[in-house]
Amino acid sequence: MEQINNESEPRYWEKMRLVADVLRNSDAPVVIIAHEDPDGDAVGSTLGLARALRQLGREVWWVVDPPRFLRFLAREGEIHEPVDELPDDAILVVLDSGDRHRAVGAPVTGFVINIDHHGSNSRFGQIHIVDPAKAAAAQMVKDLIDSLEVEWTEDIATPVLTGLITDTGNFRFGNTTPEVLETAAELVGHGVNLAELTDRLQWRPPQYFKLMGMVLSTVQFHFGGLAVTAHVTREMSEEAGSGEEDSDDFVGVIRYAEGSYVAAFLKEREGATKVSIRSRPGVSAQNIAVELGGGGHVPAAGATLEGLTIEEAYPVVLAAIEKELQRAGLLG
Ligand code: 5GP
Ligand code: MN
Repeated sequence: MEQINNESEPRYWEKMRLVADVLRNSDAPVVIIAHEDPDGDAVGSTLGLARALRQLGREVWWVVDPPRFLRFLAREGEIHEPVDELPDDAILVVLDSGDRHRAVGAPVTGFVINIDHHGSNSRFGQIHIVDPAKAAAAQMVKDLIDSLEVEWTEDIATPVLTGLITDTGNFRFGNTTPEVLETAAELVGHGVNLAELTDRLQWRPPQYFKLMGMVLSTVQFHFGGLAVTAHVTREMSEEAGSGEEDSDDFVGVIRYAEGSYVAAFLKEREGATKVSIRSRPGVSAQNIAVELGGGGHVPAAGATLEGLTIEEAYPVVLAAIEKELQRAGLLG
């Protein structure tokens, strides 16, 4: 796949200042959106920026629909409905999205600012800051808010820290750099209660645990244990009384299978199967996802297999995994 270089340090800050100037000096509404199935980084980075810009007196439309476990971050009335047409002269800010087609909430047209950390970013923004070396879009938004010279409050810091926490797997993944920990320390210094926030982020409804029991009964090991898979069907969700989003972090459970390098979790969607992929160093979840028509990061990626049932998707996914395990030299 195309190798996109990280922004050089001076260029990164130069672009941040440019974006800050654009956002500060225009009177038009700022519409902020993120990728479909928004995760903690998508929700946190957009909400942090929305609140920072509101503090500057800007009109902001935060067009993001947080999944249930993240809804506590938003206040009553803070969420804007999806828009079919952008207001006149609007500035569209697209965060945490590497592809215009994955961005939802508003049409990706007009003047687009894209701030993102996906290696597979297609550079669709009129102004884009793309830095795959950043652990989270929230890290980049932290730098943007600093460039805007907005005074940090707990209200702004909490969603931004959420993005860092979720995209680093609670500061455990390989992207947990000194910069991440320093930023987190700064945000906690702005009044965020880290213990309370991490606890709240793990809350799940009772039906989640029922569904987890069913999902764990689908766990299978492949290639002598190098890969682990599991799945959820709509029928299972219905039986457990849970929504689609309840299954979002099961891949994070099975990835801890000892000896495995790849975890893949398959979810039944309307006329499609969505697969979430995670990998250990030496193996690229991103390569597997790209092979399946998707994308993401090296350790965490995904794809949607249109027109395939879960049963039909399994062999396709396993073939892509096999290819990557061979490339990595783990399989003959
Ligand atoms: P998840 O498995 O949690 O949905 O996604 C893991 C990572 O892969 C995220 O960074 C997400 O944005 C990315 N990703 C998931 N599905 C797709 C997809 O279909 N296409 C692309 N380009 N990226 C995806
Ligand atoms: Mn992200």
